[in-house]
Amino acid sequence: MERRQLNLPKNITLAKFAGFCYGVKRAVETAKKLKAENPEKEVCVLGELIHNTNVIHELESLGIKTINEIPEKGEGICVIRSHGESPEVIEKIKQAGFEVVDLTCPDVKKVQQKAIELAKEDYFLVIVGKSEHPEVVAIRANAQLWSDKVIVASSVEQLIPYQDKIKNHKRTGIVVQTTQRIETLNPIVQYLTSISKEVHIANTICASTAMRQKEAKELARTSDLVIVAGSKKSANTTHLAEILKDITKTIHIENDAELDNYKELIESANNISITAGASTPQNVIEKVLEKIKNY
Ligand code: SF4
Repeated sequence: MERRQLNLPKNITLAKFAGFCYGVKRAVETAKKLKAENPEKEVCVLGELIHNTNVIHELESLGIKTINEIPEKGEGICVIRSHGESPEVIEKIKQAGFEVVDLTCPDVKKVQQKAIELAKEDYFLVIVGKSEHPEVVAIRANAQLWSDKVIVASSVEQLIPYQDKIKNHKRTGIVVQTTQRIETLNPIVQYLTSISKEVHIANTICASTAMRQKEAKELARTSDLVIVAGSKKSANTTHLAEILKDITKTIHIENDAELDNYKELIESANNISITAGASTPQNVIEKVLEKIKNY
């Protein structure tokens, strides 16, 4: 997508890196293709394929169901979403009788593989991310098959209880949830470097996330207001909004209807930028843009 600049009564810029990343696009398109090619088979996804209610409803209308638990018995195809799953969960899906189609994003797979590699080599592994996020749960589960020295942290404070264990271990490994902010990683790296004998850092923030954050920061520096569109459940969208709040006025909305809550703010801004998370569909972004143009 091209970055779009509109010189209306207000300067409105739509970010180039706004909306579906390639991992999400691949998952949505492949799931639709699977159902189209296998109309007679049940096709389901374990967990929401992406954090967007409209897309989930669209998938349901095509016959692609979202399941939140693995049933004892199942049939047809069960899709693993871009966040990935633990080997144990994948095995359970197979045992239930499903054919598994793994749509884990290749960038997430790389983090899982790096975490396994470091765990096998007896690094004390620190996964930088949110412990309850499905991507992190799967990375941890993969690494824990090889080592019991695996922890998750999203701040230096969370590492303090492990200080002695880390100090006494011969080396520390670091991998990062793909959608994390570099601002979260940096102090953790600094702290671990100061207490470890040897540190291996794998900056696994994905290129798509890094480019989206970099462009949005540049836009924020010349904007009075940035609008971030996307689900509040989406980690990358929430992180994007958090980063921009440190630079300029930022509002995080799920859809164009929510803009009405910020009418005064929008009307008083002259330079407005719009960006969106990796799970935000194009039509949501377009609706936000249209509505802003009319303020
Ligand atoms: S945000 Fe990055 S890692 Fe996550 S699905 Fe998109 S491309 Fe893959």
